[in-house]
Amino acid sequence: MDPITTAGAALAAIKGAIKLAKDVKESVIIEKMNDAYEKVLTVVEEKAELQQKVRDLQQKVSDLEKQTTTADDLDFKDEMYFKKSDKLGPYCTVCFDTKKLLVRLHLWSPREHCFECPSCKKIVPRQSAQVIYPRQDSY
Ligand SMILES: [Zn+2]
Repeated sequence: MDPITTAGAALAAIKGAIKLAKDVKESVIIEKMNDAYEKVLTVVEEKAELQQKVRDLQQKVSDLEKQTTTADDLDFKDEMYFKKSDKLGPYCTVCFDTKKLLVRLHLWSPREHCFECPSCKKIVPRQSAQVIYPRQDSY
């Protein structure tokens, strides 16, 4: 092969190598861009899920705030609470004061002149400030 033909072949080979390098480089870039695209899609999907969770939690907080009774809405009388806003009650003072739970007192079957808390078992005489706590006879 003459030198000119050899140089032409070498140039053609280099051009082919450069083109191949570009193709390889582009394919690597395209692969990386596809990876990045998939990651962005995952992040977008996770963001949408998190936004939905935030909306769900905000709704739960709103619902709980509506259900929550503050101490300002309670009247304390004869060791029981009564709601000022709707006049409902009586409610257990122990459960509200310790756990912020508004637990309605029930008539205590053996002695109907008493109320009993179904949660903490506190017993409150209906007309007296005397408190029997906790009930010991049946547990
Ligand atoms: Zn209670």
